[in-house]
Amino acid sequence: MNELPEWLTDSRETALLSAMLAPGSSYSLESLAAEARAITLRRFGRTMTLYAPLYLSNHCPSGCVYCGFASDRTTVRRRLEPDEIERELLALKKIGVTDLLLLTGERTGAAGFDYLKKSVEIASKHMQRVSVEAFPMSGDEYRELALSGCTGITIYQETYDLRRYEELHRWGPKKDFFHRLETPARALDGGIKTVGLGVLLGLADPLEDALMLFRHVRHLQRTYWRAGISVSFPRMRPQTGGYAPPFCVSDHFLARMIFAFRIALPDTDLVLSTRESPAFRDGMAGLGITRMSIASRTTVGGYDEESSAAEKGQFDVFDDRSAEDFCNALRAKNIEPVFKNWEPAYNGPSSEYFENNPRQEAQSCH
Ligand code: SF4
Repeated sequence: MNELPEWLTDSRETALLSAMLAPGSSYSLESLAAEARAITLRRFGRTMTLYAPLYLSNHCPSGCVYCGFASDRTTVRRRLEPDEIERELLALKKIGVTDLLLLTGERTGAAGFDYLKKSVEIASKHMQRVSVEAFPMSGDEYRELALSGCTGITIYQETYDLRRYEELHRWGPKKDFFHRLETPARALDGGIKTVGLGVLLGLADPLEDALMLFRHVRHLQRTYWRAGISVSFPRMRPQTGGYAPPFCVSDHFLARMIFAFRIALPDTDLVLSTRESPAFRDGMAGLGITRMSIASRTTVGGYDEESSAAEKGQFDVFDDRSAEDFCNALRAKNIEPVFKNWEPAYNGPSSEYFENNPRQEAQSCH
């Protein structure tokens, strides 16, 4: 088995974070919340950027024990065809969404690179910003995706505990821990502008995973200083297959983790999805989180049509408020919902990519 890289294990990087998160920390939750709130207000103002996920396909050859789309589940498999994608996008636009995250499982014949690229092309005609949460790709594929209008990727390592990773990923391409670990760097080398990292909280010791996640973020920020790096805090939710996570992650720990990341990463977007309850999401708005998903469906499609009761999503959504209700809750806290903060004129591969590949710039200008 390969060794973890040094940048992932250097505990000097995480001394402050460790002090804020360790059991029996001398930092009270209230003091962390107050500091996180002040930093968020100073750096991001009273705003919350909003995005919506769109599941393109639930085909997947992998056997992740914690996922409702794993290949041994009885879930009905399907993918959205171009006309269905168009209809989903129109339904999302109607509720104000302009920032979209496209999701698939691991690469399959039904939903491979060409399918994903085509989907990005369709989505980028309708949306200001399109990112993908899909399978790890090569640098060349990321470049093609960036040229098609994709600006960002989300790729969670799930856990940085090598032994747990091996147990949890029973078969399929996702078993390759190190290929996944290097994916954000490959994407940024390929011209993708933003990457979102995270661990699936509950799969392994949450404190250890939080420290490793932080080191991964800092490593990327040092290496790709112009890239936008964001951090998500997904916590295990019930899913088809009924996997019960071995580690309990309390609201208290999750709140502490969000505050500590805000203090240690003052300029980094911190993301919270509809996996969390309305009360928890409302509580975190303004205290560190700067980006949230809205009106999410975790079934394939589901915005244009009512998902049938028999169709199961990747996991159960907790905050199922409508976009309007959620925005009203933000406004009640004096926070402005922001649907658009990105000009499509800036889409395409990053300038960093062209500096490293000057011949590509000449080609793309013609
Ligand atoms: S987590 Fe992703 S790779 Fe794993 S089974 Fe689910 S869809 Fe497939």
